[in-house]
Amino acid sequence: MRGFWLMLVLAAAAGAEKLFNGDQVIRVNVESEEQIQLLQALETREEWELDFWLHPVSTELPVDIRVPRSSVSSVTEHLSAHHIPYSVVINNLQELLDEEKSAMTENQMKERSSRSFNFGAYHRLETIYSWMDTLVSQHPKLVTKQEIGRSYENRPMYVLKFSTGGNKRPAIWIDTGIHSREWVSQATGVWTANKIATDYGTDASLTSLLNTMDIYMLLLANPDGYAYTHSNNRMWRKTRSMNAGSKCRGVDPNRNWDAGFGGPGASRNPCSDSYHGPSAHSEIEVKNVVNLIQSHGNFKSFISVHAYSQLLMYPYGYSCKNMPDQPELDSVGRAAVQKLTSLYGTRYKVGSICNIIYQASGGSIDWSYDVGIKYSFAFELRDTGRYGFILPANQIIPTASETWLALKHLMEHVRDHPY
Ligand SMILES: [Zn+2]
Repeated sequence: MRGFWLMLVLAAAAGAEKLFNGDQVIRVNVESEEQIQLLQALETREEWELDFWLHPVSTELPVDIRVPRSSVSSVTEHLSAHHIPYSVVINNLQELLDEEKSAMTENQMKERSSRSFNFGAYHRLETIYSWMDTLVSQHPKLVTKQEIGRSYENRPMYVLKFSTGGNKRPAIWIDTGIHSREWVSQATGVWTANKIATDYGTDASLTSLLNTMDIYMLLLANPDGYAYTHSNNRMWRKTRSMNAGSKCRGVDPNRNWDAGFGGPGASRNPCSDSYHGPSAHSEIEVKNVVNLIQSHGNFKSFISVHAYSQLLMYPYGYSCKNMPDQPELDSVGRAAVQKLTSLYGTRYKVGSICNIIYQASGGSIDWSYDVGIKYSFAFELRDTGRYGFILPANQIIPTASETWLALKHLMEHVRDHPY
């Protein structure tokens, strides 16, 4: 009997899905520059294998750290020894992941029997891809699906194009899921695509927008990473490319753009979650987007959606200097967030990436701004850390609904301020 159980355990291990039993997420409300430096030193202690969900950068923002079970006592002793107060936000990460998975399984059965798609649930890549075909078939005059290239592991990358005609009309770009573990981002993208398709013709403002402009949506900007979060490691953030000379895989696709590439706030260590990659646009997933945007040549807005922290940001990340359009982008951003907050009271901060989170180079919206797309924005959706990346599915529709009000405000501003 003992042999049988051992075999089961080994079989589960061979299944390769990483488990997070006993892993904790702890939060430090940083109070001083000295504490920030102490926490930054932890980022380089590789033996503890810490996963910083929110990095130590300023006393304005908390620091969230996933601590593997094996490091919990060392880390908490270290913090106590340095008089750094912390709280445990998630006591056992695997419990939350188990709940998430069973909710997905339950939903799959419901969807199968009702032959419907539930926007309030998380889905695997294949399900989202086949749902795209459904959307196109329901709205053939408005929506098309275009393959913009393949990922490193040869998955197709699809954009949904919402267009009522014309040739290379001024366009708005929205991407979700460039960081694969930020699941509410992709889920919000799916809901939003459906919202655009169903509201065209009934919502006067959206209809007027689509009569003069196109909207492009890339729902799975990091398809390999997304598939990997379902099959192997829920906490995977990067691409899945091989790194020469390293056992670690993947590049942070939001440090890989040709905008201050390799500067502060990106790592040169291939094992880091913010590794910038060997060169700008080395990641095919990034390059595919760059190619589309450049060959199109008429994008007026570029919006990238992340999670979590509840922020609406504009350039720059690679520099803390204000860019020329700062006053306009700041006031549009604030008005957009006001709309968002009006629905459920969810509070957002607005500012440049560098001033609101931290200096981070090689980011997508810095690149888009520098190639002349003035209305470049990035969202960090819900929440502020209670669940972090494991936001329960029952918050998907509320998150997407409130975000839509902000997105719509931004898009209307773009429509009404041609340049
Ligand atoms: Zn992100």
